[in-house]
Amino acid sequence: MSAITDIKGSFTLHNGVKMPYFGLGVYLSKDGSEVINAVKWAIQSGYRHIDTAAIYNNEEGVGEGIKASGIPREDIFLVSKVWNSEQGYDSTMEAFETSLQKLNTEYLDLYLIHWPVKGKYKETWKALEELYRQKRIRAIGVSNFLQHHLEDLLTEASIVPMVNQMEFHPYLVQQGLLDFCKSNKIQYEAWSPLMQGKIFEMDVFKEMAGKYKKTIAQIVLRWDLQKGVVTIPKSSKRQRIIDNAAIFDFSISKEDMAVLDKLDKGKRFGPDPDNFDL
Ligand code: NAD
Repeated sequence: MSAITDIKGSFTLHNGVKMPYFGLGVYLSKDGSEVINAVKWAIQSGYRHIDTAAIYNNEEGVGEGIKASGIPREDIFLVSKVWNSEQGYDSTMEAFETSLQKLNTEYLDLYLIHWPVKGKYKETWKALEELYRQKRIRAIGVSNFLQHHLEDLLTEASIVPMVNQMEFHPYLVQQGLLDFCKSNKIQYEAWSPLMQGKIFEMDVFKEMAGKYKKTIAQIVLRWDLQKGVVTIPKSSKRQRIIDNAAIFDFSISKEDMAVLDKLDKGKRFGPDPDNFDL
């Protein structure tokens, strides 16, 4: 694992592409001024990684936010995802073109299969592999794939996914999956790192925040990075976007990492990848 240095630092994917380990999530950020501003403020305050998806219906705003930031497109790591209803080879190819058009870009840094839709994800993966071979995507990956989904995909894949984006926070670690991904050189990435905002209601994090003179969000996001997990907290508020990134001037001790690790209870706040209806 690379050292955690600053907001522009990265982990290296198995194809050599550098993925900034800290980014902005934009799920539920409304298209138009809300998402445009969030993306612009984030980039202007140093973020270099933006995570969107076709289903978020805000790709146009994300593209505008990147332009408005004044930072060149090549300096940003831009991620989108193919939605469940578009899975299959041809429909994924079309969905990819639509995402590029909306984002007003010629390529993506990372394109993910959003959920493991049964009977479809292997064909979808073939489309991602083809787009990768055509150099239209710098890295390809999956999201919400449990170990058995990955094992199944690997029986036919010619390219091992570079990333698996999963729900991940102190209440849902899935250590077995984390280890499986590590041994297959699949970079693990956290969605809902702040438990969709519910983490702030939990007393257990307050003590450690006090000890380090940091916010609960900063403690949990720093824990992600020290575990080697890419993290993409969502906010559309300027001050929170800035504050969430103030995690490069401290580190959590080994002992306190272990305290946080012990909170795991296998609790999901989002859908179960084995039983979703999306
Ligand atoms: P999150 O855990 O990032 O929490 C976001 C919530 O926390 C928001 O309500 C926000 O207002 C609040 N918040 C953020 N910073 C705060 C702060 N400093 N103080 C107080 N409140 C704060 O939840 P998320 O949006 O579900 O996850 C992050 C990103 O992960 C998404 O935006 C999206 O890009 C991605 N995601 C992917 C999937 C997937 O299936 N692949 C699913 C969900 C989310």
